[in-house]
Amino acid sequence: MPKTEHWQWYVEEFSPTETHHHALEETYYAGRTKFQSVAVVRSATFGKMLILDGDTQSSQGDERIYHETLVHPALAGAGDRSRVLILGGGEGATLREVLRCAEVQACTMVDIDGEVVDLSKRFLAEWGANAWNDKRANVIIGDALKFLRESKETFGAIISDLTEPLPDSPSNPLFNADVFRDIKARLADGGVYVLQASTAAFHNIALHAKMARTLRTFFRYVRSFSTHVPAFDTEWAFLACSDKIDLAALNPAQIDAYVSKLNGYNTFYDAETHRRLFSLPIFVRRALAEEGDVF
Ligand code: SAM
Repeated sequence: MPKTEHWQWYVEEFSPTETHHHALEETYYAGRTKFQSVAVVRSATFGKMLILDGDTQSSQGDERIYHETLVHPALAGAGDRSRVLILGGGEGATLREVLRCAEVQACTMVDIDGEVVDLSKRFLAEWGANAWNDKRANVIIGDALKFLRESKETFGAIISDLTEPLPDSPSNPLFNADVFRDIKARLADGGVYVLQASTAAFHNIALHAKMARTLRTFFRYVRSFSTHVPAFDTEWAFLACSDKIDLAALNPAQIDAYVSKLNGYNTFYDAETHRRLFSLPIFVRRALAEEGDVF
């Protein structure tokens, strides 16, 4: 192995005082689209990685942990799996996971950045795999905000796989009460809205708690769940929102029946994993119960 000084490094800066250094074997692409900076690299540890605005989006080594967690609890619980909407989801792996469910008749994915989608198809082909060519997939390049405002369709599951809502991110306008109301209006009866919802780390949980607090004003059940994603170097959190389905209380038999019917095999998620995802430590439960600001 070459000595560390010969490596090129991708340094993910979590805060001015916290960084994770990834040694790089190759940089496939580095540039800027109309919406964000993009890099596609290969790290020595995690394989290929997509980085947007300096934030790791997913890695070849562990993307299944993130994408199975984002998609399958929601689909296992949804009353109607026939129509699914993905907000964002550029790499195509969320689409791939949704389409592994044969009950899904149509999946619309709306990502604002056609260049990210094209780069993903070119360099990260394993992420989207056959999903891009699946007849059930309807990939729209456009602003999810506009889609939500203009669409009259309803969906049994809406899956938000957007970038972090940092002030200058194109995802930022999708995190406010008006949009949460629009999303709710696009959910079918018994529908589930699930979102990737920032970190639930001991030292960094404020944004997640703020999302949960805001969403609780719209939905009867707002459940937080999380898992460690090694390439993100942190505990990654999600929120599941519904008026009818409490994902934290899903029956293990229902989960395993759902998983057993998926095309191909899961590497992460089943009924046992579900218990672990929704089993929250005290500090998370405290943070979620606290009063505070909302979007
Ligand atoms: N796993 C990710 C993470 O860790 O944040 C999110 C994955 S995915 C790459 C995020 C996608 O959201 C990007 O492809 C980006 O183009 C898309 N996006 C951001 N703002 C958007 C908007 N307003 N409408 C639609 N897509 C948007």
